[in-house]
Amino acid sequence: MEIKSAEFVMSNSDVKKCPKDRLPEYAFIGRSNVGKSSLINMLTHRKSLAKTSGRPGKTQLINHFIINKNWYLVDLPGYGYARVSKSTKKVFQKFITEYFSKREQLVSAFVLVDIRHTPQPIDLEFMAWLGEHGIPFSIIFTKADKLKPKAIENHIEAYKNILLETWEEIPNYFITSSSKTIGKDELLNYIETINNNLNRD
Ligand code: GDP
Repeated sequence: MEIKSAEFVMSNSDVKKCPKDRLPEYAFIGRSNVGKSSLINMLTHRKSLAKTSGRPGKTQLINHFIINKNWYLVDLPGYGYARVSKSTKKVFQKFITEYFSKREQLVSAFVLVDIRHTPQPIDLEFMAWLGEHGIPFSIIFTKADKLKPKAIENHIEAYKNILLETWEEIPNYFITSSSKTIGKDELLNYIETINNNLNRD
């Protein structure tokens, strides 16, 4: 897919206020500093469509961007556990769970993980939560330029083994680097294929 246009539409913290049209949307989420803003800028060919961070605690907003005037790229803030008083139960921030459980236009989520790290409980728990709620997702491994090819292979293999402890099938995954522009075409083509299939239905 060629990106002809990419425009910011709106930010808000309430899923009810998200765009009302029925364009398909794809949500990008991960822990802060995972490289999400850089990835969005790489995908859209813009230097600062999504603001690159270094600002933990930035306002927790759902950010909609319209791409080629026919689909939404949604930039969600880093997830974390919300504090639930008098309970040790871990839950994700409310607006994130609301967004994923209520947003009918959502076609697929992309969960970003830093390829250098061992599987982090919060990432695995978030994927499990998506699975329990029937929300399709792919994994995007970021910062692949930081590892040599053999190490990439080993890290992916280790990640798959952990996933196989709870998942019957390995989710779709992409290996990316925003610094070296790796994985861009694969991701955009994947989205394009889904969009084309949706149009055919
Ligand atoms: P966000 O908090 O998830 O939006 O992450 P950012 O995109 O702001 O990136 C966090 C840090 O990781 C910044 O210092 C980026 O320069 C760095 N970074 C992001 N993507 C890459 C990448 O593909 N390769 C390398 N080497 N560094 C990256």
